[in-house]
Amino acid sequence: MSAVSARILGNTTLDRFDALVIGSGASGGAVAAMLTRHGQKVLMLEAGSNYFPDIDQPAAMTALGSVGQALPLFGNDELKLLHRYQIAPDPVAEPRTLRHTAADGDRLAVGDFANFAKTVGGGATHADLKTPRFIPDDFRLGTLLGGAATAGGASFVDWPVPYDALEPFYLYTEQLMGVQGAVGVDPNAGPRSGPYPMPPGAAMYVAPVAQVGLAKLGYTLFPCPTAINSVPYDGRPACNDCGFCQSSPCVINAKGTPGVTTLRKALLSGNCQLRPETRAVRLMIDGAGTTVTGVEAILPDGSRTVFTADRYFLAANPVEDVRLLYLSGGGSPLGNSSGLVGRHLMLHHGVNVVGVFEDQLHGHRGRGSTHAFTEFRVPSNPNQPIGGIVVVTTVPYLIQQAQTYLAQFGTLGVKGALFKKFLRQARPRDRLLSLNMYGEDAPHPANTVDLDPAVRDVDGIPVARLTYQPHDYELAAEKFFVPKMIDILGAAGARFGAQAPNGDPPSAGHLMGTLRFGSDPGASVCRPDGRFHDIGNLYGTGASLFPTSSGFNPTLTITMLATYVAASALFPGTPERGLG
Ligand SMILES: Cc1cc2nc3c(=O)[nH]c(=O)nc-3n(C[C@H](O)[C@H](O)[C@H](O)COP(=O)(O)OP(=O)(O)OC[C@H]3O[C@@H](n4cnc5c(N)ncnc54)[C@H](O)[C@@H]3O)c2cc1C
Ligand code: SF4
Repeated sequence: MSAVSARILGNTTLDRFDALVIGSGASGGAVAAMLTRHGQKVLMLEAGSNYFPDIDQPAAMTALGSVGQALPLFGNDELKLLHRYQIAPDPVAEPRTLRHTAADGDRLAVGDFANFAKTVGGGATHADLKTPRFIPDDFRLGTLLGGAATAGGASFVDWPVPYDALEPFYLYTEQLMGVQGAVGVDPNAGPRSGPYPMPPGAAMYVAPVAQVGLAKLGYTLFPCPTAINSVPYDGRPACNDCGFCQSSPCVINAKGTPGVTTLRKALLSGNCQLRPETRAVRLMIDGAGTTVTGVEAILPDGSRTVFTADRYFLAANPVEDVRLLYLSGGGSPLGNSSGLVGRHLMLHHGVNVVGVFEDQLHGHRGRGSTHAFTEFRVPSNPNQPIGGIVVVTTVPYLIQQAQTYLAQFGTLGVKGALFKKFLRQARPRDRLLSLNMYGEDAPHPANTVDLDPAVRDVDGIPVARLTYQPHDYELAAEKFFVPKMIDILGAAGARFGAQAPNGDPPSAGHLMGTLRFGSDPGASVCRPDGRFHDIGNLYGTGASLFPTSSGFNPTLTITMLATYVAASALFPGTPERGLG
């Protein structure tokens, strides 16, 4: 423990709370920002450390010489961040387990499976924060797919709240996070009631390269909405295109992560207290099983205590939310009269196709990815399966490049000393262009989160077990779209193009589902306003509530939905009043 990273943040004099929020990521930050905006007293528990010094101080002289939020304690260091677990849980100390189906036994493997950063601000702290909205059809796939909605055991359903009702919350969230983008450039985008707060910033060099191929084949490349300042905004500087953006925190606060947006606003309101390095381990429930009475937590010094509030919001992410419900239920999870807690885990079916180009692509310049196209994500097109948005990107980091080469060429026997020679000569180095599709992951009841029966973490607590495999739906979409992605690379001038091997699970870094919301208590865990059907003062918040995954990067929608849930708690039936 370090004193800086565990300092209690915000108003430390508060000792009675209207709401307790577990987790300070995209969802938790959004809940806190909305509740404190309306005078609610909020306590946040965050298992990870804090790397945003003075996040709760109005202004400081920054290293850039201007007055603003103090700079965070991150560096442009691939090794420290991505391989020495500066903010991610160490998979030896805090692993997860994986199996594909129950027939695999207790587990197939122990390690790092779909794990997110454990830090103040959560995974969004180092996401590259592309923030497209979902489109209206994403909220009605049950209706749109008709009989096919349940084919192969999938469980596509409509969301209980349509796009139109959520649109004002999208607009508010884009302003809160600070999203750059252009209206009218994505032919498949839904309607909007206002512009983006900022215009698009500079394009990566790979964008115009890919554009050559996309234009030849009739696709529309556009600047992807992204929560990164293209101009000074909300007291934060414009991005300087340092190039250390993909999977990395921003060292100048230009990226609209919770630590510089939602959390900061909540903490500066005087109505919020955030306790880093404080891990919730059990929800306490009354005798009737319908009211949460407190949360037991492990403090930074290892001791345990109980925190209380009137309402409780789960914002620890779709895996850790379920883990906590299991840990609290004595054998079966809390809130599970539907039998659906932990079911319908969705990860997005990440499909990556990599092309090798003759010329250098300058991947170390600019943001993680700046441009995208959406023609593979049109649910109403009967001539293709439902895929996802495709972003154009590259492989900017040295260790990452080596890993990519090994994955690509290791199967051809290029390993060991030969591989080292290959890396030194590095002909393909900085010549890789990648098309990444975030494919729809069909909600499948057999894809679940529960507790591993034997594996414990460093605190002696059972770890989460994922039971996950892609099903026919995603695999058919992958088979359909990969040849088209390779054609695009070829039309853009790639000398060689191939699909990168899928991970296991084939994750795109996105977690969704497990506490699906809906009107029917027999078919959903939470109500349309996010509250548990079974437990009157407990709420699901962001990604956990998603009944379907869409095929777009989820964090804008996670933040938006958490905002909507908090506003619904304050103004039942008229959540739009929360925006006033
Ligand atoms: C490399 C990478 C790149 C990404 N890029 C994008 C992108 O471009 N666009 C996009 O939309 N998404 C992106 N994502 C996904 C994005 O990071 C997530 O969607 C988002 O962070 C999820 O937020 P969350 O609040 O649901 O969960 P989390 O970020 O996981 O937040 C949960 C928080 O709860 C804390 N917590 C967990 N358990 C407990 C407990 N028991 N007690 C107290 N605290 C607890 C955790 O430490 C964490 O801080 C990316 C992800 C990765 C890994
Ligand atoms: S590219 Fe821009 S937003 Fe990304 S880390 Fe660098 S300065 Fe920050």
